[in-house]
Amino acid sequence: MANHLRAIWDADPDAAPKERPSFSDDIVGRFRSGRQVLIDGKQVPEALSTWRVTTGDPSVAAGVAEILGGVSEEWETDKEDNLQVLTESPSVNIIIEPGTLDASFKQFVQGVGLTHHCDGFEFLSPEEDKGTPCKCPTLIAERKLAAQKGRGPKPSVDVTFRLFDSPDVGKFRFNSGSWKLVEVLAPLFAELDKYEGQQVRATLTIENVTYTPQKGPRAGQEVSYNKPVIKVLGAYEAAGTADLAKAA
Ligand SMILES: [Zn+2]
Repeated sequence: MANHLRAIWDADPDAAPKERPSFSDDIVGRFRSGRQVLIDGKQVPEALSTWRVTTGDPSVAAGVAEILGGVSEEWETDKEDNLQVLTESPSVNIIIEPGTLDASFKQFVQGVGLTHHCDGFEFLSPEEDKGTPCKCPTLIAERKLAAQKGRGPKPSVDVTFRLFDSPDVGKFRFNSGSWKLVEVLAPLFAELDKYEGQQVRATLTIENVTYTPQKGPRAGQEVSYNKPVIKVLGAYEAAGTADLAKAA
């Protein structure tokens, strides 16, 4: 709805209100745990250990920089969110609204498009297949293996939230394809279900995992990767700032 309104303003500048309207219910920015970097003339994905936030709104970028550190700067994109803040924080205090954590699995085949779209158990689309079993393996490890072989869908986890330290700025979105996040989704959904209909305080963190495998092709070599972690702290209404500081 709000997007439609904005589109109308874009089409007819005279119809636009003089004052900056309140967009606080719109998605004002995205949290990202990675970026593309140019190495030897090739765009290569780089995992980040602190949050990168992109937005099209200078005041949002400034607010994020104030809370999480970093500076607002322009980056190369053809999308609307042409500002980024490479923050100094691996973790952010957030407020999750009911029903805004979403997960699905999607497989795209080049030249064909979306060939498999499910919740891990049943198809979510196309309409005629909706609700029928998709036959994805039950075990996450098997699903991951199938996806790696191009024979199964990859995860897409989506969460919309507000910043605990600045809830009025608007909503942010984080989308992740992390299997590590998928592995903990069941307990996470169960945790959120405890606060049915309520806003929930949580932390969204980029966690670094480092270990040395004893077996396999990389035995004895240190392996390191980052994973996003959502930790539920409690109901938002019942929360005090001191409480949160204690939990952090
Ligand atoms: Zn499936």
